[in-house]
Amino acid sequence: GKVSPVKTVNPFNNELVKEFGVMSDAEVDSLIAKANKAFQTWRTTPFSTRTGLLHKVASILRERKEELGKLATLEMGKRLSESIGEVELSANIFDYYADNGEAFLADKPLDTPIGSAFISYEPLGVLLSIQPWNFPFYQITRNVAPNIVAGNTVLLKHASNVPQCAKIMEDIFLEAGAPEGVYTNLFVPGSGMERIVADERVKAVALTGSEPAGSSIAAAAGKYIKKSTLELGGSDAFIVLDDVDVDQIADIAVTSRMWNAGQVCTSAKRVIVHEKIAEKFLERVKTKFASLKVGDPLDPSTDVAPLSSEKAVKDVIKQVETAVKEGAQLLAGGKRINRPGAFMEPTLLTGITPGMEAYSEEVFGPVFMFYVVENDEEAVKLANDTKFGLGGSVFAKDTERALRIARQIDTGMVYINHFTGITPELPFGGTKNSGYGREQSPLGIYEFVNPKLIRTS
Ligand code: NAP
Repeated sequence: GKVSPVKTVNPFNNELVKEFGVMSDAEVDSLIAKANKAFQTWRTTPFSTRTGLLHKVASILRERKEELGKLATLEMGKRLSESIGEVELSANIFDYYADNGEAFLADKPLDTPIGSAFISYEPLGVLLSIQPWNFPFYQITRNVAPNIVAGNTVLLKHASNVPQCAKIMEDIFLEAGAPEGVYTNLFVPGSGMERIVADERVKAVALTGSEPAGSSIAAAAGKYIKKSTLELGGSDAFIVLDDVDVDQIADIAVTSRMWNAGQVCTSAKRVIVHEKIAEKFLERVKTKFASLKVGDPLDPSTDVAPLSSEKAVKDVIKQVETAVKEGAQLLAGGKRINRPGAFMEPTLLTGITPGMEAYSEEVFGPVFMFYVVENDEEAVKLANDTKFGLGGSVFAKDTERALRIARQIDTGMVYINHFTGITPELPFGGTKNSGYGREQSPLGIYEFVNPKLIRTS
């Protein structure tokens, strides 16, 4: 028979752990019907019930963080401490929308000389949420939490390599008391999404993932006139000015790039350093690289975990080989590690110039791309010379100077003296080919509601 694409393969040893059947069109249709039916009730269910559900989900996540963390590590390979941190972050996001959702959606009076009027924020209906594997719990959470509190119901299509995380989230919602159809897991490959977007009961679609997936979902959403948000790739600049404590910032750059084995949309993919400190910075990065310990992601002493899959390693190594072929210099790493599993050496590339693939494409793995610039203007120009516009950071003791640069960077987020982070109350999202729309913060709750005008006099 046909091999199911929906399966857990442990990237630590590349062994198949578990396979799941793909749902038939008829099964999916009946789940859409249930989600739509649930919406008819959920939309008018009191806020206290909706927020109570989210608080309950948050507390289950906290109670079970070890077990859930292990599951994320099993399915996509990240270090256990990162997985557990991710589960805690997810719990915090559920609590954040539970605590603030009702206030964010309160009727908003409008100032008008012609009478009185207000905006009523009303849910849209069934939302299709398509999510990637790199943060198997967090990615779901930041999209689902605001929408469940807003009164929408959600069909969750997770990446095909994290089915157990996907399924357990549905179980947690049911355990927390969610009525059937409020949160529904779909086991369907990405290629089956347009049919669901087209369904008239599905009102909107949110996708986090790659540019090609985003483009195809946006095309489908456009065709059927549905609201969409896209959180896509990035090639963020990490700009380091010449007045910093070089060793300290070099260490932060390495941490930021190696986090989640480099598979973070906002990781420091392009490290852009002022020429005055470049040599010292590079030496420190090399020393730091040499100290990284490869190993089992469940072992707390491991620094370098596997990538998420065999395909991920092959793709990243190919990108590095292409860069070298095109003239970039390889200062460290670049090869797979000679052991079972989806392991790749932490890699340091420099001499990347316009026209090379690595200059313009996102590299989704542990590859540190090092650039040197002469001044602030050149740093800004290089930071902006990309089709992406997700996050970025600027490091400087002179924060006024850093702020001037931050204002000129064409992205959705810039952090000064921090790498691009994640916290429930700050928005997350991009511009240019990194997509559109925002998640987290107050902004995240207004994406899929109808801001309905009601004029009362
Ligand atoms: P991907 O292939 O685009 O997969 C992401 C999700 O989209 C998966 O659920 C996938 O399902 C689905 N999908 C794939 N092709 C699709 C299509 N044609 N139509 C609809 N859905 C489709 O992404 P990836 O390469 O695994 O993930 C890494 C990418 O995500 C990187 O570019 C990264 O920067 C980006 N990302 C962005 C953010 C952000 O917030 N901006 C956050 C995290 C990751 P299947 O697994 O079944 O193919």
